Amino acid sequence: MARIGVFVCHCGTNIAATVDVKKVTEVAKSFPGVRFTADYRYMCSEPGQDLIRKAIREHGLSRVVVAACSPSLHEKTFQKCTEDAGLNPYLFEMANIREQCSWVHDDREEATSKAIDIAGVAVAKAHRNSPLQTTFIPVEKRVLIIGGGISGIQAAIDIAFAGFEAVIVEREPSIGGRMAMFDKTFPTLDCAACILTPKMVEVSQSDRITLYTYSEVEEVSGYVGNFQVRIRRKARLINENECNGCGTCWQRCPVKVPSEFDRNLGKRKAIYVPFPQAVPNVPVIDREHCLYVDKKKCGICKKVCPFEAVNFEQEDEIIEEKFGAIIVATGFTLFDYSIYGEYGYGKYKNVTTGLHLERMLNSAGPTGGKVVRLSDGKEAEKVVFIQCVGSRDEARGVPYCSRLCCMYTAKHTLLLKEHNPAAEAYVFYIDIRAAGKNYEEFVEKVQDEYGVTYLRGRVSKIFERNGRLTVRGCDTLSGTQIEIDADLVVLATALIARPDATKLAKMLHIPYDQNRLFTEAHPKLAPVETVTTGVFLTGACQSPKDVPDTVATASAASVKACGLLSHDKLPIEPQIARVNAEICSGCLACKEVCPFGAIEKEEIVDKVSQKKRVIAKVTATLCNGCGACNTACRPEAIDLDGFTEEQIFGQIESLVADRGDGK
Ligand SMILES: Cc1cc2nc3c(=O)[nH]c(=O)nc-3n(C[C@H](O)[C@H](O)[C@H](O)COP(=O)(O)OP(=O)(O)OC[C@H]3O[C@@H](n4cnc5c(N)ncnc54)[C@H](O)[C@@H]3O)c2cc1C
Repeated sequence: MARIGVFVCHCGTNIAATVDVKKVTEVAKSFPGVRFTADYRYMCSEPGQDLIRKAIREHGLSRVVVAACSPSLHEKTFQKCTEDAGLNPYLFEMANIREQCSWVHDDREEATSKAIDIAGVAVAKAHRNSPLQTTFIPVEKRVLIIGGGISGIQAAIDIAFAGFEAVIVEREPSIGGRMAMFDKTFPTLDCAACILTPKMVEVSQSDRITLYTYSEVEEVSGYVGNFQVRIRRKARLINENECNGCGTCWQRCPVKVPSEFDRNLGKRKAIYVPFPQAVPNVPVIDREHCLYVDKKKCGICKKVCPFEAVNFEQEDEIIEEKFGAIIVATGFTLFDYSIYGEYGYGKYKNVTTGLHLERMLNSAGPTGGKVVRLSDGKEAEKVVFIQCVGSRDEARGVPYCSRLCCMYTAKHTLLLKEHNPAAEAYVFYIDIRAAGKNYEEFVEKVQDEYGVTYLRGRVSKIFERNGRLTVRGCDTLSGTQIEIDADLVVLATALIARPDATKLAKMLHIPYDQNRLFTEAHPKLAPVETVTTGVFLTGACQSPKDVPDTVATASAASVKACGLLSHDKLPIEPQIARVNAEICSGCLACKEVCPFGAIEKEEIVDKVSQKKRVIAKVTATLCNGCGACNTACRPEAIDLDGFTEEQIFGQIESLVADRGDGK
């Protein structure tokens, strides 16, 4: 018979204010097999853990139950404590009487009764717990970073500095992400290129960083320490090793098309580098517009290239590599404001977005730093900015605040006034959210020192009058309706998940929220981890983030990845699914529901019939012990170590048995 110790935590007043902890401890003495009980103010504290260790040794306990908070917070703490005292950590059981009891009830008597039940079923499970053994897997000491914006760049630099190898896979022809498009950054107004370019160069020159630009991840299999990744390197039609970026080819290319990097405000050639500081400084040939690729006309680039680097025969290359950890740094895209018909999308050329304005404000951009009317190229003298376009709008946009728009709009007004002091700027806002170091001061500065007019209220309509836009809105502070004639209207559109975010999430087996933003393992305690061990998040792919927060999460994700890589072998949780081959019918319903891709089909020879048949096979290293397969298995051929049917039904049965307090 197991000798069980029950330890009940007050959690300060978190539990004790609602649950009669003394009574739970007293009643627990009468649970079958319980040989020792104790309560303590903070069981997770060092003295609390000492109490457990001492009781295990002095009372010869063979099982431990702690009734306290959620296992997601302190299961590991108490498993370690149990192990320190010489017991297998899986002989420990946790009863959650905080989140599932004291925090959700206010009737003390009922909450106490429920806490007794919760502790009782944990004791029932502890009886049926058996020792589980952790296994170890080797670690590939390289990190894959998907996305080469500022977050991916910073992560790669940190990983390389720690002595490990990093590989960046970037979809575009150059790394840099959105930040490469900006003129200056709030709130310090550093020149974006001046702070970003050195980092891009550092990445390209590091011996420990490999760059695969114009590339995409196609398939990921494996598990922490051993991810196998298939990468497609799209054909640039240029031999990268031969090219030195001299520019002769794109200078002579006769084809001009709108430049994506300039948000279609400027032109690029059919052979091009997206921007002058691009890394790598190697062009790419745009197959759709090149005259040679389809029509076999032109070919000037090939003729003029002094290094014979142009290669029209080049094909996509598939690379397969192994990684120990993966960092997702795929950033964001912007909300398509066409849904807001009142803003005149597609109708008025002079209605534009913040990102377009970034390109205009950039001295190396399509308008040479001038803010112009897009209809006729004349300098804009009066500009209206509209915030929260798509943000905080559950009905038509996204429910969340995009966090940056208040700040980048303030930056835009300031830069507009610096470029043209005579220009007038008006900002329609709902609330100003400027929570960051020196952010509030920055917004005040644009109002006080630069004379920007802030109007609290929504815009109801934009229309054209006498060749100029009229913005009609309300000023809720003065209670008046306002009409402003404007040369240009700039919309601060919401930052949203990239269109292919869910595809990537499925490939990596990481969850995403209702807005398709990747979800962290725990919002407070594991903000850069995901539920898939070894896959981390950084930057704006998780939620809208400015550059300082992006860089901070990049460094955090790198530390986590390096932490894994610092081990030669990694332990894997033994709470994994097990298939009983004799019962398994091979229907593979379990494979369909497994969110981690841990179940494969396996062909075996049936012991009785000696015929071949299919059964489900669990890859232990991929299984996260979620239990989805158990519930899907109709013949009950799958059991989960640590949560077996015997353990679960044992708990249920214990609830109907006498608890010892007469209830
Ligand atoms: C108009 C505007 C102005 C701003 N101004 C400022 C400012 O002044 N100061 C400030 O602090 N912040 C500013 N920001 C915020 C800033 O843009 C973000 O903080 C920053 O870009 C986030 O970096 P990131 O690396 O997470 O994402 P991104 O910059 O979006 O980079 C992600 C990269 O991943 C690549 N990628 C995406 N999917 C894949 C895939 N599947 N495979 C491979 N590669 C992929 C993309 O091509 C891109 O290069 C502004 C934002 C906007 C919209």
